[in-house]
Amino acid sequence: MKLQYQEDPPNASTTLPAMFAPEPDPQRMEAVVALCKRRGFVFPSAEIYGGFRSTYDYGPLGVQLLRNVKEAWWRSMVQLRDDVVGLDAAILGPPDIWRASGHLATFTDPLVDCRSCQQRWRADHLEPAEDGKVHCPSCGSTDLTEPRDFNLMFKTHTGPVAEEGSVAYLRPETAQGMFVNFKNVLQTTRKKPPFGIAQVGKSFRNEITPGNYVFRTREFEQMELEFFVPPADAPKWFDHWVDERHRWYVDLGIPEDQLRIRPHDPEELSHYSAGTSDIEFLFPFGWGELEGIANRTDFDLKAHAAASGESLDYFDQAANERYVPYVIEPAAGATRSMMAFLVAAYDTDEIGGEARTVLRLHPRLAPYKVAVLPLSKKEALTPLAREVLGLLQPRLVCDYDDTQSIGKRYRRQDEVGTPFCVTVDFDSLEDAQVTVRERDSAEQVRLPITELVAHLTGRLDLSSR
Ligand code: ATP
Repeated sequence: MKLQYQEDPPNASTTLPAMFAPEPDPQRMEAVVALCKRRGFVFPSAEIYGGFRSTYDYGPLGVQLLRNVKEAWWRSMVQLRDDVVGLDAAILGPPDIWRASGHLATFTDPLVDCRSCQQRWRADHLEPAEDGKVHCPSCGSTDLTEPRDFNLMFKTHTGPVAEEGSVAYLRPETAQGMFVNFKNVLQTTRKKPPFGIAQVGKSFRNEITPGNYVFRTREFEQMELEFFVPPADAPKWFDHWVDERHRWYVDLGIPEDQLRIRPHDPEELSHYSAGTSDIEFLFPFGWGELEGIANRTDFDLKAHAAASGESLDYFDQAANERYVPYVIEPAAGATRSMMAFLVAAYDTDEIGGEARTVLRLHPRLAPYKVAVLPLSKKEALTPLAREVLGLLQPRLVCDYDDTQSIGKRYRRQDEVGTPFCVTVDFDSLEDAQVTVRERDSAEQVRLPITELVAHLTGRLDLSSR
């Protein structure tokens, strides 16, 4: 039976090429950025003042999507494991931490100034032109300064006096919070290697050339795990975490052919790393890092032990052996991954001859899981529609929309990735049934309201591993 308000199924032939495009595609980027602005995912920060230097605010849908990315990470890294615990450390830190970690001395990018237009560039991002000279990307001048090291940490002062003793830094990575709390966590949780400490939070880097939308910003969010292991087991755990993290992106909907794993060349390695592999995504502007998995060895624990005087080693009673654990670190960007999920999910197809934009987001990431739509704004439908909403809201993040035609409302929900719409119509008042419409196939089923919660939670499958 063809249900009332049912649409023709989407024309799949227009769907696949866009989803699996193997080549960079700048128009796709423009379309995603426009959608983010139009539908309230991401706004330029301080927009009414003309915007503020590559800084962005996450709007009503963006904050929900970003939370879902972070929660999906936390679920997989902490909730579903018994060998990882969480932490939320301070963003402000004393110079001691950053001196010991090596960031004060080495967390730098090579910077060149254009003497002509005064713009600053990362020297390692500039390539010589056909004439063999390096040109300023802004004005074309070749009058550039020699590269000099520029520290990426934001420096500030605590308290009312801006003197040397009050200097503090905004963390450029969340990782050091885990190292300086290693002993606290060890003593309070009775964990022993192999075990990990996970943290999600803001980091700050005074990037010389932020850009590509939220790919590179000065304020961003990271999701990092420091996994402490016996030194001999480090290679095994490194491989484990590269596989696990790659799988996480695939499970959440990024096509495998848009991901690659790139081992670092030796000269590219950070000062603490004995080996790093990046997980990269094919952004519309080319391959870009989503996450780095590094073997940080015992560099950080030893450095903090030496600088603080606290021993940060582990005594293995069974083996009667004391050692400083090695650390395997999967370090991902939350805001950067959110952008990758959006780009991968963005699609266009046709329903009944009408073009639509659809975000094929994994249900775990979708900002709204369900939209409740009374067929018309007529008062008779409102109480039942609100009752249905009240039934769903405690379990699932829902939207409620009673404006414009039902077709337009379906399109609006497709465009923001809502997996299911529930329509309450005049028959619902008689038979206590509603219509459930699925986003990707546009298929509709009619079912009793009493079965709605079980039906939707079953199809959304949010409790699977
Ligand atoms: P890049 O080479 O892109 O500067 P990185 O190798 O310095 O990144 P890491 O220090 O390994 O990055 O940080 C881990 C993750 O944090 C990165 O993979 C990325 O997802 C995220 N990240 C790092 N810098 C930024 C930034 N400026 N804006 C947004 N996300 C970032």
